Amino acid sequence: MPKDFLAKAADEYDVIVIGSGLAGLTTANILGRHGHRVLLLEQHYKLGGLATWFRRPGGHIFDISLHGFPAGMIKSCKRYWNDDISDRIVQLKNVRFENPMFSLTTTFNRKDFTKLLTEQFAVEQSAVEGFFDTARSMNFYDDQTTTTRQLFDRFFPGREDVIRLLMEPITYANGSTLEDPALTYGIVFSNFMSKGVFIYEGGTEDLIGRMQKELKKNNVDICINCPVDKINVKNGQVESVEVHNRTIRTKSVISNSNLRSTIFNMVGSEHFDPSFVEEAEAVRLNNSSTQVYMAMKPGVEIDESCGDLLFTSTAPLFRTEALLSRDITSRTFSFYYPRTRPEGKRRYAVVSSTNARWEDWSGLSETQYEASKQELIETTVAALDKFVPNVREKIDWVEAATPRTFNHYTRHQLGASFGTKFEGLAVSRKLPEQIGGLYHAGSVGIIMSGWLGAINYGVIVANDVDQRLMKQEAAPA
Ligand SMILES: Cc1cc2nc3c(=O)[nH]c(=O)nc-3n(C[C@H](O)[C@H](O)[C@H](O)COP(=O)(O)OP(=O)(O)OC[C@H]3O[C@@H](n4cnc5c(N)ncnc54)[C@H](O)[C@@H]3O)c2cc1C
Repeated sequence: MPKDFLAKAADEYDVIVIGSGLAGLTTANILGRHGHRVLLLEQHYKLGGLATWFRRPGGHIFDISLHGFPAGMIKSCKRYWNDDISDRIVQLKNVRFENPMFSLTTTFNRKDFTKLLTEQFAVEQSAVEGFFDTARSMNFYDDQTTTTRQLFDRFFPGREDVIRLLMEPITYANGSTLEDPALTYGIVFSNFMSKGVFIYEGGTEDLIGRMQKELKKNNVDICINCPVDKINVKNGQVESVEVHNRTIRTKSVISNSNLRSTIFNMVGSEHFDPSFVEEAEAVRLNNSSTQVYMAMKPGVEIDESCGDLLFTSTAPLFRTEALLSRDITSRTFSFYYPRTRPEGKRRYAVVSSTNARWEDWSGLSETQYEASKQELIETTVAALDKFVPNVREKIDWVEAATPRTFNHYTRHQLGASFGTKFEGLAVSRKLPEQIGGLYHAGSVGIIMSGWLGAINYGVIVANDVDQRLMKQEAAPA
């Protein structure tokens, strides 16, 4: 008999969370902690969504999205998870850039960037301070018509090198471009600049394992291998979800699945106002990624002077178009030294990440696809060889992921790595106005994506749902 993955699920819950990305996990944890009955349904066989990892023979473990996040993660994890998790967050001190315009290593915070910009790039102190202050003062409700390019042009006209330094890591961190609203750049950049780039020591598997433990402590029922097919709506309110031929009743649904899939596939556009459907249809998905995972043979060491994060490019100028092109010129290498997993084997691994487009990979035949992946691996190993000499002979395991891989494991349309573009945020926030009890928490709008953005968005939505449930409980029967 096939395994019943829903065996422990009850017939009714206060809240059903669909998807266990960092936003889904966080909403489930907060609502469970508040005493609500919560069911977390994940279609994959493990929790974490894009915050994930995989193992390969020889004791190798690869992280998919553990490359760096702002210091704000410490506070968010402490408050909404526990000290065990927040205490393991540590700074990455060597962020390195190598491109035709400049070579440098930085701690990636305001103090060091100010020094670099004034001394190495010879920018006026007043322009640097003005830029930092403007970026830091940006918030959600600001004007959205100014683009990031206009922001840069205001403070650093004609300085393509400065734009590259300021923009390249953020494009990598959340897929934003020079054409996106400046506030999406300003908020994310300032988050990083406050203290630098941080990482979770112990690896993604340790983090997700601890989160799972905390969820259990807070009585959240967790069912993996459970893809939700449908969210049922009655009289303008969510009523239940359908999963594995079971209908589970609920007062609220929080979807951590892709925003567009939530609206158009799981609910159905017939349940929303036509003007809302129009707005939702206009939401653009963010780009996807390719990655190459390279693990070193036992005994091979990589010198820490390579850096923790290495932004490389062979393109003469910084251009969004070039970053997304199938003809790869920019790669970000994440170096995993034994300190990443102090309790693991003394292994070194490198993961190369590059922004990519779904359409460059989706239509390939299986043979073309395999050949393209092989080419991606070959060119990436050759690129890494400039920084780790003879790396080809040092590699024990190598493989690649493409937009198709991300789509397969998370169901994100077009394999989107960072959810939707900025307009997705307003649509996500309006869902409960359209259908009572329907919420979305997950990567939208650049600011609410990435590890910290996803967790913080989960917190916001958990508070909304908590308030609704409290009101319902207080209402006379
Ligand atoms: C290559 C790459 C590198 C990255 N690097 C970084 C980085 O260095 N720093 C950083 O901060 N961020 C990084 N990110 C982004 C970050 O990982 C994501 O923004 C964040 O993890 C997304 O969390 P989320 O809550 O939106 O959900 P997701 O992680 O998108 O998870 C959604 C979950 O919903 C599940 N699901 C979908 N549909 C259903 C359904 N019908 N039923 C049940 N379950 C369903 C999926 O299986 C998945 O588990 C990177 C992403 C990628 C792809």
